[in-house]
Amino acid sequence: MAACWTGVVSDRPPITLVELHGMGVEVLSGVGPRKVEALRSIGIASLGDLLTYYPRRYVDRTRERRIADLAEGEDALVLGRVASTSSRRVRGGRTIVVAEIRDGSGSLRCTFFNQPWREKQLSRAAIGADDAGVEVAMFGRIEVFRGHRQMTNPVVDVIGDPRGGRTGRIVPIYPQSDKARLSTWELGSWSAQVLRRSRDRGIDDPVPAAVLERHGLIGRAAAFEGIHAPSTMAEAVAARHRLVFDELFRLQVALVRRKREIEAASLGIVHVVDDDDVRAIAPGLLTRYLDGLPYDLTDAQARAIGEIRDDLAVSVPMHRLLQGDVGSGKTVVAMAALLTAVQGGHQGALMAPTEVLAEQHAVGVRRQLDGVTVLDRGQTLLDERPLGIELLTNRTPAAARRRILAGLADGSVDIVIGTHALIQDRVEFRSLGVVVIDEQHRFGVEQRAALRDANSDGTVPDVLVMTATPIPRTAAMTVYGDLDTTVLDELPPGRVPITTSWAHSEAAEADAWQLVRDEVAAGRRAYVVCPLIEDSPKLEVASAEDTYERLAGGELAGLRLGLLHGRMKAPDKQEVMDAFRSGSLDVLVATTVVEVGVDVPEATVVVVLDADRFGIAQLHQLRGRVGRSDLQSWCVLVAHGVVTPDAQARLEAMVRTSDGFELAEVDLDLRGEGTVLGERQRGVSDLKLASLRHDREWVLVARQEALALVGDGSGIDRCPALAEELDLLLAPEEEEFLLKS
Ligand code: ADP
Ligand code: MG
Repeated sequence: MAACWTGVVSDRPPITLVELHGMGVEVLSGVGPRKVEALRSIGIASLGDLLTYYPRRYVDRTRERRIADLAEGEDALVLGRVASTSSRRVRGGRTIVVAEIRDGSGSLRCTFFNQPWREKQLSRAAIGADDAGVEVAMFGRIEVFRGHRQMTNPVVDVIGDPRGGRTGRIVPIYPQSDKARLSTWELGSWSAQVLRRSRDRGIDDPVPAAVLERHGLIGRAAAFEGIHAPSTMAEAVAARHRLVFDELFRLQVALVRRKREIEAASLGIVHVVDDDDVRAIAPGLLTRYLDGLPYDLTDAQARAIGEIRDDLAVSVPMHRLLQGDVGSGKTVVAMAALLTAVQGGHQGALMAPTEVLAEQHAVGVRRQLDGVTVLDRGQTLLDERPLGIELLTNRTPAAARRRILAGLADGSVDIVIGTHALIQDRVEFRSLGVVVIDEQHRFGVEQRAALRDANSDGTVPDVLVMTATPIPRTAAMTVYGDLDTTVLDELPPGRVPITTSWAHSEAAEADAWQLVRDEVAAGRRAYVVCPLIEDSPKLEVASAEDTYERLAGGELAGLRLGLLHGRMKAPDKQEVMDAFRSGSLDVLVATTVVEVGVDVPEATVVVVLDADRFGIAQLHQLRGRVGRSDLQSWCVLVAHGVVTPDAQARLEAMVRTSDGFELAEVDLDLRGEGTVLGERQRGVSDLKLASLRHDREWVLVARQEALALVGDGSGIDRCPALAEELDLLLAPEEEEFLLKS
């Protein structure tokens, strides 16, 4: 392998990332079997791995100060060598480590509380060199104690460089693990070696020059130089931009390319979208449904239905994500999609995340479609039968289940609504035309895939995915990058904004109970949400059962209370839900069973207990249970006592805004991408530098350029080097995971 390198002639084409990934680290001088092993333990096997093992931060020597010049109270970066270390234990088993740092102008005492490992780390640094000691950087605030300068718990970077040679003003600091025992200096010197030895051939840049130019991006070779050995911080920043773009661009090109491949390869259904289409078995079904709604569609709903209609009219299978805030009316849009399938003689399936929701959808759909008939297939045109609508969940009795499955197979069931029971064992459809997956985040990607091949004739149903709450745009582009997106950016008119407050104190909580009583007296209903159902004194979480007892016997005595939690038997759950919906219960004390989608317009108050324990998306969903009519509604978030800074930020954001898209961004900021991406996060682990949070604008740029490059699918052929790189860097199983939909 080393042979690739020995050539002095530069008439060979620039070296590609793929080639670099094909060369093992053992070709480097200074990397023997032990280092190979150490590198392998941190995931570095090839030169490509080494080049993409990026510094975690930089020590900027231009900001370096002489110890003797430091004044009390200033934050300073000190570079020096470790002269001595000591460690002692104090009362309570805590350890104090003290290290003395010298830089020729003076000495600095660094004290570390409760970081016992510093002793080993710093003494190793001291021993590391025969003459001078190993260089370290300390960043912290200067204190002066009895005339001696010191720092407490400074940020430490062991720079290494045992030869004492000062290279460059900006020193990269690589992520290190104690186990691997590789110094940041070694890592830096090896990547420098790769760069030096690549110079005669140059490093290939597979991204079209025009793309780079449009966004002010530097070339790939310069970016690798700039990230590993910048001469200024500005250079490091420019390098980072380019490499961040590379990661995001690769991902987007892969997503877009795969999307086009699926579109080209699968045989979709050309649905009946026009009322006068002779193929219809229920002519004008959709029109009649929409005309029968007690309200006008919002512009956003009309636009969404139009986009879906266009998708359904052509043979390319739809893969669409419907994003809309809580209460924006996604259900009507979903129904429109299902009914389009039905009017053309195909079937529709609606998959909800919980039984409560599936049942609620079934009730609503049956009510809305009561009395609708369709032409019976295979009979004379005059034969009609009622529209077949069935509910299929895990509690469907065996006999009914058999009947429903038979109806799905022979086509007499037109719409099936259910939970994941729909995909548990193979459910056969006569012709599944449209699948709507509600509140997607509860489902895995694999589950989505299961419904895709439900048809025995090989046709692929059209798929509409709806999120429960908005997810950030950048996240949607990344994790749902293989879907088209429709956004419902408008709420139905006449909604009165929900008043949200944070009850910090007992007194404020008491006000909340009074509010509940007042609203119930005025004929409204209320939710009380508790995080856990069983006593868990350790966690000090209100248990639903306890809360129910307490409220029934105290704050809400005299009101009709119901209890709903996940461990109740399904029929009992259903009974409580029905009673609350019909108004024979005033207050529903519940766990997060009510979190998503439950729709009871007369409910005007939601009180969330221990609200600091919930995430933003959950709180926003819970709040969305009220404000579903023209009545004034309230959301009271109860959290007294000390809350964490993150919880405080969440609660404050909830009080500040009701905009789900804005809250989604706050959530991304607070939690980072991993948790926000949920199910699909594994797929983006390939992002080493890029962050969906900090690099939002680059996600947009990458998406836009990927769409432009791939075009209708063949564009990538013009960039073979890029294609090769995608195949290498997006490991097959990872891509599969990302793209299965
Ligand atoms: P979500 O997007 O949260 O799923 P839903 O589909 O449950 O929202 O709709 C919320 C409420 O708004 C429902 O009661 C529904 O009947 C009502 N609704 C939907 N669209 C409109 C509209 N265009 N005008 C008035 N009310 C609407
Ligand atoms: Mg909904």
